[in-house]
Amino acid sequence: MLRERVEKAREIAEHELVAVLKRDEEGRPKALLVPGGEGKQYQVLIRRNAAFETECFLWTALGPVPCRGNQNGHVCYHSLAAVFAAAREAGFRFMVTDSLENAERLARIGGEIKELRSRQGSGHLFLVILKKRSAQKDLDDLFG
Ligand SMILES: [Zn+2]
Repeated sequence: MLRERVEKAREIAEHELVAVLKRDEEGRPKALLVPGGEGKQYQVLIRRNAAFETECFLWTALGPVPCRGNQNGHVCYHSLAAVFAAAREAGFRFMVTDSLENAERLARIGGEIKELRSRQGSGHLFLVILKKRSAQKDLDDLFG
């Protein structure tokens, strides 16, 4: 279930269990370490192109192994947790849905639609990114 994966991912990010391993030239998280079940560790790589693209690897004694959570058209919850953590750090929040139609409906209340794709399969989701409120906007709302 997508909802379960999203909740699990959001919880991991909110508890600050995701570690940033590498950043891009703009300082945004590019490689992140995400805890999985049974004490396993996953490394998620995020690419920011027209869509967000993720790759997830389970770390084993023999080296990195592609995460199986990205089979069958899914985007694994480790990848989602990494994206949640990166968004949290940047001060953004977003909603997740698996259809463009739903994303468009959600975006009507204000939000930018961005696709999230797994580079390890056909899995893709849609994020509705809610704009960061500026301090000025808060002041305007209070005193405007
Ligand atoms: Zn994964």
